[in-house]
Amino acid sequence: MNKSDCIFCKIAKGEIPSKKIYERNNFFSIPDANPIVKGHSLVISKKHFDNILEMPSSLGRELLDCVKQTAIKLMKEQKIDGFNVINNNFEAAGQVVKHVHFHIIPRKKEDNLKFFSK
Ligand code: 5GP
Ligand code: ZN
Repeated sequence: MNKSDCIFCKIAKGEIPSKKIYERNNFFSIPDANPIVKGHSLVISKKHFDNILEMPSSLGRELLDCVKQTAIKLMKEQKIDGFNVINNNFEAAGQVVKHVHFHIIPRKKEDNLKFFSK
C-alpha cells in the first residue's frame, strides 16, 4: 500500500477529523471506528511505521505514556475493571492497518472476552 493512502497517516495529519483522547509529540489516541467493546481505543504513532519492528525503540517511553494516560482516562470515565493492550504485527497476526497502533480494550469482570487468558 502507498503510504499516502494510509488511513492512520491521514488521521495523524488531520486530513480526516478525529476525536483525540490523548496526544503527545509522537503518538495520539482515538476511539476505534469499529469498537469490539465500548471504549475500545487505538494508540497510533504520528509517523508512519508499518509495524513495531520499524519503530525506533527510543519512542517506547512516549508510547507507554500514551497507552497509560489513555487507559487511565478510560478507567476514570467508564465503569471498567481492567483493560488489555494488543498490538498486531503482520497479516498472520491479524494486522489490517499497516501503520503501527496499539488497541486498548476496556474489560469488565465476567465480560467473557478471551485474549489469551484461560
Ligand atoms: P488491526 O487489525 O490492524 O490491528 O486493527 C485496525 C483497527 O483500526 C480496527 O480495529 C479498525 O476498526 C480500526 N480502524 C480502521 N480504520 C479506522 C479509521 O478510519 N478510524 C478509526 N478510528 N479506526 C479505524
Ligand atoms: Zn501511515
